[in-house]
Amino acid sequence: MPRACGPGRPTKVSAVITRMSTLFLRTLRDDPADAEVPSHKLLVRAGYVRRAAPGVYSWLPLGLRVLKAVEDVVREEMSAIGAQEILLPALLPRDPYETTGRWTEYGDSLFRLKDRKGADMLLGPTHEELFAQLVRSEYSSYKDLPVILYQIQTKYRDEERPRAGILRGREFVMKDAYSFDLDDDGLKAAYHAHREAYQKIFRRLEVTYVIVAATSGAMGGSASEEFLAESEVGEDTFVRCLESGYAANVEAVITTAPQPIPFDGLPQAQIHETPDTPTIETLVQWANATFDHNYGGHDTLKNVMVKIRRPGGDWEITGIGVPGDREVDMKRLEAAVEPAEVEILSEADFAANPFLVKGYIGPKALAANGITYLVDPRVVDGTSWITGADEPGRHYVGLVAGRDFTADGTIEAAEVRDGDPSPDGKGPLVSAKGIEIGHIFQLGQKYTDAFEVDVLGESGKPVRLTMGSYGVGVSRLVAVIAEQCHDEKGLRWPRSVAPYAVHLVIANKDEAAITGAHELAEDLDAAGLSVLLDDRKASPGVKFKDAELLGMPVVVVVGRGYANGTIEIRDRFTGETTEVAVDGAVDAVTAAARG
Ligand code: ATP
Ligand code: MG
Repeated sequence: MPRACGPGRPTKVSAVITRMSTLFLRTLRDDPADAEVPSHKLLVRAGYVRRAAPGVYSWLPLGLRVLKAVEDVVREEMSAIGAQEILLPALLPRDPYETTGRWTEYGDSLFRLKDRKGADMLLGPTHEELFAQLVRSEYSSYKDLPVILYQIQTKYRDEERPRAGILRGREFVMKDAYSFDLDDDGLKAAYHAHREAYQKIFRRLEVTYVIVAATSGAMGGSASEEFLAESEVGEDTFVRCLESGYAANVEAVITTAPQPIPFDGLPQAQIHETPDTPTIETLVQWANATFDHNYGGHDTLKNVMVKIRRPGGDWEITGIGVPGDREVDMKRLEAAVEPAEVEILSEADFAANPFLVKGYIGPKALAANGITYLVDPRVVDGTSWITGADEPGRHYVGLVAGRDFTADGTIEAAEVRDGDPSPDGKGPLVSAKGIEIGHIFQLGQKYTDAFEVDVLGESGKPVRLTMGSYGVGVSRLVAVIAEQCHDEKGLRWPRSVAPYAVHLVIANKDEAAITGAHELAEDLDAAGLSVLLDDRKASPGVKFKDAELLGMPVVVVVGRGYANGTIEIRDRFTGETTEVAVDGAVDAVTAAARG
């Protein structure tokens, strides 16, 4: 008779203590030649990761433990909002990405391949398509909704500039979650649940971050926010107001428009001969030499010519009017016109439109030739400008917005500068750099339309679902934490993700001390702490250096003092060292490890 399964006798199985004498780890004395940012240098030097190809990394034992710890934190907080974990393939068919147009839109960033039968396949960069299809095939009734599904999975993007090791990889681990709801209120609730879950995740990981509005949504874009870890090595620039805590992507900053000025008493506009003034600088020099007034670039109206193409439409020439002391920020302009595309007008376009006199373009010729003209929000009615008169060497002085010309609308295209007023009116903006660690997005019906994801509604009619998508850069977070948490000696992991709670260094050749250290390791392990034991035959100096490089939060040293009944506890954060008695060592180390 086979024995029936039943509860066995509970046995305390302690984890095996990791001994550095056998650990698959080699630390490097020198920085890798291709590393520029501290996290990259340290993660390679400390033997956490190794490069296999540009933007493609292997995880070695210590690195993998941090990665898994980050995953666990993410997983716990996702479960806490009721999200269910699944795992989709990374190797995907072309078809669904063709349906949404992303097979083409992704361009060179997509890793494409063919199977043996010649069918197109891809390595998934993100999975909206697959999740939408999956929900469509599994669910059919309003009673099934809402649902949040997520995965922690390897993504592939053939990034133009893979950078900084695992910070911007071509293969990386992302947590991507997708919410499906019957209506907007449901979507908003799912979005807020994710927002709060992310705040908890990043707090637990001890990352310093800001939440920024990703785009202004001026063109009816859907709500989207990014979580940016503050870091000088970040590629995203954001601005914030220190007084109010307002923070936004540069693309999302809304310009504070001044009050309109009454026209009464404003002098008539006049055309002046302004030879050799094709630039703002030369124009301002001319104005100051001609009039008894101190003009600056902000008194001039610069008209930058672009062409804009809406999806499915033709290129349309458009003038963008900005105060002459500011450049047009192409990223802001792109965000403002999205999903349309925008390009600077080419020489050929200028040649084909001779009414555009380079260096002297003004609002009048644009209006006369039916060209759309969009201006910076600072160009309010009653503001008076020096601007082009559409003839070589001629400018208007005193051309008044709303009186002498009228734009077709305003546009957020001018650069944002430190010192500009915060949109909330509470103080000046200052810029800072960040690394995107999370992105939450109310997608709406973009993907559910593409795949016709409908369920039978309560009324018996089909209801099209609405969708959100929510990403966390799991592998990137390992680099971000290392970036925010290191010193000149090495890494300094927060307790929530450290590969081991305690790094126990044997720095004494005496048999008694060595035996005592092994016993202490066993006791700490039995007390529930993960222990990395440095039992190598190396000098104390080498071991201490490695301990600092590897960055466990608590380093315990069994050294000279052992003969007198003491050991040392070093705090990797504060650098403080405390001597404690061997007798009470387990309690003291446990207390230190708990923080
Ligand atoms: P980025 O602007 O940094 O390229 P993204 O906006 O393209 O990121 P999303 O599509 O929003 O990225 O992906 C969700 C998350 O995945 C990002 O917030 C980021 O943390 C992470 N991520 C994106 N690309 C990479 C990459 N190449 N390497 C590592 N992590 C990445
Ligand atoms: Mg993003």
